[in-house]
Amino acid sequence: MPDNLERSDTALRPAAAGVAVSGGGHVARDAAAQPAVEFRDISIAYGKFVAVRDFSLSIRKGSFVTLLGPSGCGKTTILRSIAGLVDISAGQISIGGRRVDDIPIYRRNIGLVFQSYALFPHKSVFDNVAFGLKYRNVPKAEIARRVGKALEMVRLPGSEKKLPAQLSGGQQQRIALARAIVFEPEVLLLDEPLSALDANMREEMRVEIKKIQKQTGITAIFVTHDQEEALSMSDRIVVMNAGRVEQIGTPEEVYATPATAFVADFLGKANMLPGRVSAMDGGAATIALATGKTVKANAPRPLAPGDVVTVVVRPQKLQVGGLAGVNRLQGRVVSTSYLGGSAVYEIDIGQGAIVRANTLIDGKVAREGETVEIGFDPAGCVLLDDKGLRIA
Ligand code: ATP
Repeated sequence: MPDNLERSDTALRPAAAGVAVSGGGHVARDAAAQPAVEFRDISIAYGKFVAVRDFSLSIRKGSFVTLLGPSGCGKTTILRSIAGLVDISAGQISIGGRRVDDIPIYRRNIGLVFQSYALFPHKSVFDNVAFGLKYRNVPKAEIARRVGKALEMVRLPGSEKKLPAQLSGGQQQRIALARAIVFEPEVLLLDEPLSALDANMREEMRVEIKKIQKQTGITAIFVTHDQEEALSMSDRIVVMNAGRVEQIGTPEEVYATPATAFVADFLGKANMLPGRVSAMDGGAATIALATGKTVKANAPRPLAPGDVVTVVVRPQKLQVGGLAGVNRLQGRVVSTSYLGGSAVYEIDIGQGAIVRANTLIDGKVAREGETVEIGFDPAGCVLLDDKGLRIA
């Protein structure tokens, strides 16, 4: 798999994997150093349909990891496999260094938050949040203390007596979050928890969830198809497509250096300009684009004339009008979306190729039909090979 090196980030190095030689020469496993969750080459099938294939991932304790991908790529299936709600057909899953096959489902110490808040409608907020504690036979006074603390954490103190129907969608999701963290789970699973909320509430809850996760130190695995959510909340993002991993990395890594054409397109709609290398000049390749124009792009290794490549340029790396950039192209504005401090343009650069530019506004906004000059720098490009994999 391309760029799937993160699988080894804690799993395969002995020290990080928690294997230490004790004083007597015995190999002791240090639970604190174990990955919180580890998948080794898991596959999951529904009948004959393989929904997840050869998935490997090692998740550090206390981190926030997001599974990001289009509908149907297998994100929820992976999440459900941790909780034991679907069976894996191959591979291994470990939680805190213990294989999950050894842990009955009811003993897996996991908090769950779903898109549909899944609160008990006839139970009070207190009883909803207390549910997991009662189930674990926690003494009454301790339950009251912990429920109060969890409600404070989600900023709904004093709401114990209310019923879910008396709360807004955002407040209900906060209660669902309080219910999931109140028993201090080893892992918190969040399956599209913000999808049912309106845009403002979604943004507020992004910040809130992240804050609570950092405060509590709970390892969180978050599922979404929303790239902004993934970029803004995660320590690491696992980009998935059709049951497989495309890339694992920090938000900056997956955005700035997409490993595949799929990642480039799925995260932020990159401009993809196909062409062929015509020459190398130091670290930069000169590329004859299919549109007939020539551009320069930094190449991490020498490329041969004739090599088929795709130049990937993020919309934010394109400047529009009067300026700058080693690479200059002319185009006609097809659409303008004015966003206050910035504008998004679609620009026809000839031969049917449309590029997208997202620029801060400094001066006047270009109108539809206007001819503009576009500039970008060789260092702002990523090159993909003929198979759509990043040239490294
Ligand atoms: P979404 O964002 O739409 O929830 P997802 O990435 O979470 O998508 P999954 O729900 O994991 O995807 O589904 C992965 C694939 O497995 C899909 O093609 C789906 O149709 C299929 N699938 C999921 N659950 C079942 C099931 N119980 N029986 C058969 N096929 C299933």
